[in-house]
Amino acid sequence: VRVLITGATGQDGSYLAELLAADGHDVFAMVRGQWNPRQEWLGALAPGIQVLRGDLLDLQSLIDCVSEANPDVVYNLAGVSSPGLAWREPELAAQVTGVGVLRLLQAVQAAAGAAVVVQASSIAVHGPYGAAKLYASAICRDYRERGLHVSEAVFGGHHSPRRTPDFLSRKVTMAVARAEADDCDRLRLGPLTRSQDWGAAPDFVRALREIAEGQGPGAFDVSTGDPHTSAEFVELAYAAVGLDWREHVVFDDTFAQPTDVASLSAAPDQRLRWRPEMPFGELVRWLVREDVDAMTEGLAFAGSRRWNL
Ligand code: NAP
Repeated sequence: VRVLITGATGQDGSYLAELLAADGHDVFAMVRGQWNPRQEWLGALAPGIQVLRGDLLDLQSLIDCVSEANPDVVYNLAGVSSPGLAWREPELAAQVTGVGVLRLLQAVQAAAGAAVVVQASSIAVHGPYGAAKLYASAICRDYRERGLHVSEAVFGGHHSPRRTPDFLSRKVTMAVARAEADDCDRLRLGPLTRSQDWGAAPDFVRALREIAEGQGPGAFDVSTGDPHTSAEFVELAYAAVGLDWREHVVFDDTFAQPTDVASLSAAPDQRLRWRPEMPFGELVRWLVREDVDAMTEGLAFAGSRRWNL
């Protein structure tokens, strides 16, 4: 199977590239910019993958990428994925995460009309990030109705050591690793009451493959159906190294998002055989362990280890 993965230097794209390369797929990874330092790391994770240059902001580059890869499947995992960044740069989020999907579908239609496309959609529908994702979903549905095989994984939250500290999970586990190494600085966090899914990224990318290779076109919920609050995450993360979170965290209301929701959760789609494997407690312990090890071993970043080893 020939696959084109956009966002291959990101969390999900890198786990998917690793998984599919290990299973013998011909993997083409779309990477943007003149030079991305993660490209070398990606090559080590998934030997044999071919890197192509392309940007969701540039239609011609997408047409060239799709033509060169000539893919059976296109996985679109590229985008502005941080709701916080989307608030800071809303027009960029709209152009990349929203209109970028339209450009990619135009490129597929022009250069590889029979390819299956799998888009990473989101259960989050608020703020500039959610608005861009809703636009992309509507465009996917339209192309589906026009006969392209376009599917969506409607993702709940999922995490890994490859997430950036823009996200609460990584911000907390990096602070836990520092606290374990005797750093006394308190971690500043916004409200922790939101309840959400906490999946593991290596688990979730397995669902993408089933959606591409084992399902007809459609939108599929890829979530744990096991919501927990951010407060539970923080408490468990500090407890994983024997610390009491109340001695290490201070609250800062300025970190609250302008629009937030009380709960973000869905059950895994019943049409999928896929089910998440890593439960919440194990996820938290894994994330903490990776950041503690990365600090001890002086790794460039915690997600740099291979998953499939
Ligand atoms: P991520 O780690 O932030 O990765 C984003 C990727 O997109 C990076 O490889 C980045 O490349 C690339 N990218 C950014 N702007 C681009 C552009 N203009 N053109 C081409 N590539 C560009 O995100 P993730 O967590 O893997 O998420 C993957 C997808 O799933 C995203 O669409 C996200 O919104 C969606 N999703 C994720 C979650 C979750 O919990 N993780 C939940 C719901 C939906 P650089 O290395 O060059 O920055």
